[in-house]
Amino acid sequence: MTARGEVTEVQACHCTMCRRQNGGGAYYGAHFSGGVEFEGDSVKWLSTSDWGERGFCTNCGSTLGWRQKSAPEDSSVSLGLFENFETPVQLHIFTDEGPSYTTIPHDVPHLTGAQVMKEFKESQKNV
Ligand SMILES: [Zn+2]
Repeated sequence: MTARGEVTEVQACHCTMCRRQNGGGAYYGAHFSGGVEFEGDSVKWLSTSDWGERGFCTNCGSTLGWRQKSAPEDSSVSLGLFENFETPVQLHIFTDEGPSYTTIPHDVPHLTGAQVMKEFKESQKNV
């Protein structure tokens, strides 16, 4: 995996699909200004909705990232791929789907699933 440029966004997604893929916790991912490239035969992308795909490694099962089908060059990279990652989470999304066994910090912005989908649909009108 090659990530280029600066970190532009760090999110934690608490949606049901992300929790299932990541062992019950949220998916933590980062976007980079220069985009991200995943290389190798073990990288597979699974279509999990009309708009998104989840990447994983067929050798070890690790979560690699999430990408929007209409903008695959702007993939989100799983923070689990980094030895050290110091940029804090800037936004928690799908917080209404988060389980009761986790605590979402109150001092970081939150969006429910309905709010995320509303923003997504509005962004698609401008494409
Ligand atoms: Zn999610």
